[in-house]
Amino acid sequence: MNPAKTLKLGRNDPCHCGSGRKYKDCHLRIEEEWRSQQLRLRNAQDQLLQRILAKATEAEAAELQTAFDRYWQQRYQFAQLAELNQREGYGADRFMVWFAFDYRRSDGQTLVEQMVHQMQESDLSPLERQLLPTWVNVRLRPYQVERLHPNAGATLRDLLTGEALILADSHASLRLELAEVIVGHLVPVDTPLGRTAPNYYLAGPAAHLTPDTAGPIRTFADVHLEAIRRERPEADWQTLLNERSEIFSHFILILPTDKPDPDRIQNFIAETRQRLLGE
Ligand SMILES: [Zn+2]
Repeated sequence: MNPAKTLKLGRNDPCHCGSGRKYKDCHLRIEEEWRSQQLRLRNAQDQLLQRILAKATEAEAAELQTAFDRYWQQRYQFAQLAELNQREGYGADRFMVWFAFDYRRSDGQTLVEQMVHQMQESDLSPLERQLLPTWVNVRLRPYQVERLHPNAGATLRDLLTGEALILADSHASLRLELAEVIVGHLVPVDTPLGRTAPNYYLAGPAAHLTPDTAGPIRTFADVHLEAIRRERPEADWQTLLNERSEIFSHFILILPTDKPDPDRIQNFIAETRQRLLGE
């Protein structure tokens, strides 16, 4: 199906599928329904994210504190959570999203996984029920901004898999710069007519890093994956993300804030390699 062609198609033109029938008697209605369903999904994502974050703030203080220490690595005390939005660029909000999507609580599940398992008894809307299971593997990870689409979003390159994704979040895209690295949570939502890959949106704020961090953050991730593969050769990126996505927060914490300092980043990677791989 070619979406560019269907846009120009008049109601009385022959349908693009080659059936020989008029478009209005063939694919028109299916496509209109698809579009309005996708628009409703797009509108449902905010509400679902708010529900997830509300549940995260209701978590037990002990769980939040354990997660906090893993994410911030003793840089901050749990009592400082409220001030981290100021001090660390939405640090409190970024932490809460990580807690909801990535942190495995003492029952072994992430909060999003738990919500999926309890979906039947929940008051989620049908659209939220459709979205939530597709967010289970969403984790904190690095992307690079490859192209900006004015007023429409951006193409991002997943720095781990190399896959290209469409960030359809026009509002979030206004804050993006070409080639910068963003570390955050991208959730799949609607799928435009004629495409198989979904549009992605940012769940909560992302950290914005300068373009020169793209290589080092990938190397840093490679070292961690290599360490896991020594024990479990079959481990992949999702294995690393499921167990240790907080390493990307640790990487952000060592970045210089005033002027570029490539040596500091290289030393940090060398120390990590020494600690994990003994090299
Ligand atoms: Zn047709």
